[in-house]
Amino acid sequence: MGSRQPLPAPRDQRVRTATRRLRRRVPRPLPRARGQRCALHGAGGPAMRQALLAVVLLLPQGNRRADPFAPARLRATVSFLASDEMRGRGTGSPEGKMAAEWIAERFEKIGLEPANNGSFFHEFRFGGKECRNVAGILRAPPPAREFVVVGAHHDHLGGIGKTIYPGVDDNASGVAGVLALAEHFAARKKGLKRHMVFVSYDAEEKGLIGSKRFVGHGVIAIDKTVFMLVFDLIGGVFLPGQEQRVYALGSEHSKAVRAVLEQHRKAEALEAIPLGTYLIEPVGPAFARSDYSAYRAKHVPYLFMTAATPWYYHTPFDRPERLDYEKASRTLGIARAILADIVTSTKPLDFVAKPAGEVQDARDLVRMIESVLERQKELRISERRAGTLRAHVERLAKLTATDELGGRGKRACQMAIMDLLRVARSYRPPGWKR
Ligand SMILES: [Zn+2]
Repeated sequence: MGSRQPLPAPRDQRVRTATRRLRRRVPRPLPRARGQRCALHGAGGPAMRQALLAVVLLLPQGNRRADPFAPARLRATVSFLASDEMRGRGTGSPEGKMAAEWIAERFEKIGLEPANNGSFFHEFRFGGKECRNVAGILRAPPPAREFVVVGAHHDHLGGIGKTIYPGVDDNASGVAGVLALAEHFAARKKGLKRHMVFVSYDAEEKGLIGSKRFVGHGVIAIDKTVFMLVFDLIGGVFLPGQEQRVYALGSEHSKAVRAVLEQHRKAEALEAIPLGTYLIEPVGPAFARSDYSAYRAKHVPYLFMTAATPWYYHTPFDRPERLDYEKASRTLGIARAILADIVTSTKPLDFVAKPAGEVQDARDLVRMIESVLERQKELRISERRAGTLRAHVERLAKLTATDELGGRGKRACQMAIMDLLRVARSYRPPGWKR
């Protein structure tokens, strides 16, 4: 997820050194028939590609029939993307490029076709750096004409000095989700009625740049794109007590999407709670928090699935051991069911440009705050903060008696969310030491 104050990118010299180290780790070049062209149209040179391919081979792939949503496979994917060699996948860094190459490899292996004029890559320059989105397409049989996009960003903050920000939850978890869904639907391609485009965005952390360029450059026909799903931080638990909750934002913009979400929101031991996107945009839609923004601007119905930002968000402690892979797997189960409904149908999906504030948002927030307050001691919430939270509950409870939230009601919900985020930010798990 993007913050409004991105951290500086790692210094070039440092990432070059890291890449050299990675190359040294590769025992010998992989055999390639003479004259054979790399299937991927990538920069980085043969040494980089060989290093990358070698690393790919180190990753447990499982057999063909293995469940793509198995927690162990999700963990393997995020652990690879967050390995030391990836140095936090800084935007436009050699390691960021390497991550993109690896994702393209996976897309190809899964059976996706390149989505950008024969290439899996959509390259663009930003901040003097070469960046690259990765996009693969699963074509539905004729006469399908519409597209559904499933995406997540792969870039993260890189490193600052000796400190690396591995970016496991943010957002290797989302990329793992995209790959799992691509694999799942690739095996069911014949039943599709809409084409599916799987995208891994670059430069999200710099202001959602990758998705903006992807939409802006017309890599796919946006006027034929009927739905987009984006994952950002889907591996975590926001706070103890929230193990069975994940959030789905965006369905306020489409009655049809809301209906599909309502049908699948409750799975075993997990609930996807619909929330209005305005809740995480207190400064307004110009300061959106993830890659749904460019699509929303084009009136594409969307869902943004996230488990929200736990305490380790944008810190060096966003590491593989922090995630709840069972929960991530169940989250993807809900996403899979939602997508299955949409891609095996040609039913139109409406778009509501200016949705009203829903009272249900206030109800869900009350529920959430109350469950947090129940654990005041365990979460070490100060009396003062608990008082603030109780005041939110009181204010929000009054709103639930109305029909819809006006500007003030929405503002009250935004304030409540901000205080919940503060609680999460100051939380530390028991026994945690820096
Ligand atoms: Zn982020």
